Amino acid sequence: MPTKQKKHKYIFVCGGVMSGVGKGITTSSIALILKNKGFKVNPMKIDPYLNVDAGTMNPGEHGEVFVLESGLECDQDMGNYERFLGVSLPRENYMTNGMVLKHVIDKERALGYGGKCVEPVTHVTEEIIRRIEVARKLTDSDITIVEIGGTVGEYQNSLFIEAARLIKIKHPGDVAFVMVSYLPIPGTIGEMKTKPTQAAIRTLNSHGVHPDVIIARATKPLDQRRKEKIAEASGIPIEQIISAPDIESIYEVPLNFEKDGLGDTLLRILNVKNKKSIKDSLKEWRAMFSKMKNAKTDVKVGIVGKYFKTGDFVLRDVYISIIESLKHAGGTAGVKVNIDWLDSEDYEEGKPLENLSNYDGILVPGGFGGRGIEGKIKAIQYLRENKIPFFGICYGMQLAVIEYARNVLGLADAHTKEVSKSTTNPVIDVMQEQIKNLDEKKYGGTMRLGVYKAVLEPRTLAQTLYQQGIIRERHRHRYEVNPEYIERFEKAGLVFPGKSPDGRLMEIMELPTSVHPFFLGTQFHPEFTGNPLKPHPLFLGFVKACKKLNN
Ligand code: GLN
Repeated sequence: MPTKQKKHKYIFVCGGVMSGVGKGITTSSIALILKNKGFKVNPMKIDPYLNVDAGTMNPGEHGEVFVLESGLECDQDMGNYERFLGVSLPRENYMTNGMVLKHVIDKERALGYGGKCVEPVTHVTEEIIRRIEVARKLTDSDITIVEIGGTVGEYQNSLFIEAARLIKIKHPGDVAFVMVSYLPIPGTIGEMKTKPTQAAIRTLNSHGVHPDVIIARATKPLDQRRKEKIAEASGIPIEQIISAPDIESIYEVPLNFEKDGLGDTLLRILNVKNKKSIKDSLKEWRAMFSKMKNAKTDVKVGIVGKYFKTGDFVLRDVYISIIESLKHAGGTAGVKVNIDWLDSEDYEEGKPLENLSNYDGILVPGGFGGRGIEGKIKAIQYLRENKIPFFGICYGMQLAVIEYARNVLGLADAHTKEVSKSTTNPVIDVMQEQIKNLDEKKYGGTMRLGVYKAVLEPRTLAQTLYQQGIIRERHRHRYEVNPEYIERFEKAGLVFPGKSPDGRLMEIMELPTSVHPFFLGTQFHPEFTGNPLKPHPLFLGFVKACKKLNN
């Protein structure tokens, strides 16, 4: 074990020019590189919005809501950190503007500032710094890597940049700033332009911060000429300007960064000696990536969902953890998973269900509300009857239970109370403890959230895949399979191989493999826990079933 380094180090990752160009993957990759060099890393995400957490936001607004083990509903970047590092992060590693301001205002109302005038700079920045320090101590880390959401120059994140600047003043020599920028190649000119990046550097300068490293995102690699231009205009040494062209897989990013020596550059800026004399610290990662990349056979998976469209664009971010989990499983199984987006509403409007037979398997993800669900139910019936592999997650499992109730148990009006208050067969019902929350409109952070244990039934598909008797999985839902119907379901052949330890809650549903090659649903979200080096067993089982490989 390397000896613990004395002085804590901080890396702040911020964005220039525009958002959505890969701050999260940059942060995850830096964290992975430094972890593999033997440092204990502490990745944190700051979101500038006023929501106290991501839980109340529409996925179309925000993309996926990721759930931590503790139950905190947060940004998908936290999922990227966990997947790259193979760890589970505490809730303290995430903060939003809403969280910070709520704390400051609640404290002021309780006279916590002793009659002082409470101001953004001083009191809000102090609270941001306090939170960073809490996470640092909790994770007992060497290097904290903080991703500041948004783009430099906007009003929303300026207090976070100010807090970072204050940390740098307090810890000279221990702080590095990384700016992830974007270099456009306008079609009419056909030349990569550095001006927006130069302007973004100057904007960051106006906050009193000079970036140490520029990650130059673009569709193509950054050439020497343009590196020189940026270096000359900003005074950033040329070797600290890193080319980051678009590539097919996010898992290649750390490998490319290391080719440019980013890890050692950061350690040099932070005045840290490289601890590990390992030649190729990303060896295992490289092997994983090469297996993923070189998979020869294809498998075609359809995801029947909603939320995909915003105007003319498809929002894939909504299901990011599911997409990644499928890729992880594909990598390990040696197949390339190709995903198609199937809008459930199309099946309501008469799109032929036979179209589903073009796929090796179909996944129905989680969701809320009534839109598109009849299309999903129709699709599930087709998959069940035609023995096409089906994997249902959360709402996907609940809808499979409704489908079984309607079409096998003959309960024509079977439904979820979430959508039909008047159904005489609420096979999916609201949890008792949730009724009060709904009546009082307490929606934020009140679902069944975070990790719960489940006990697995031996000799079931689920237990065969997990190879263990007790599992721990992350939840995010308000409704459950109604225990009053279990006996009838079981008599009619539906199996509940995973239940809460008290036997009350149905956590997994499946059909025996003698009846269907893969028909399985989970009340929890397995997509939140796999990683590329260790895919989730249920995703692996599903992908293998799609390819008719033995589990
Ligand atoms: N809407 C369902 C519930 O609240 C399922 C939630 C989900 O899919 N995450 O129980």
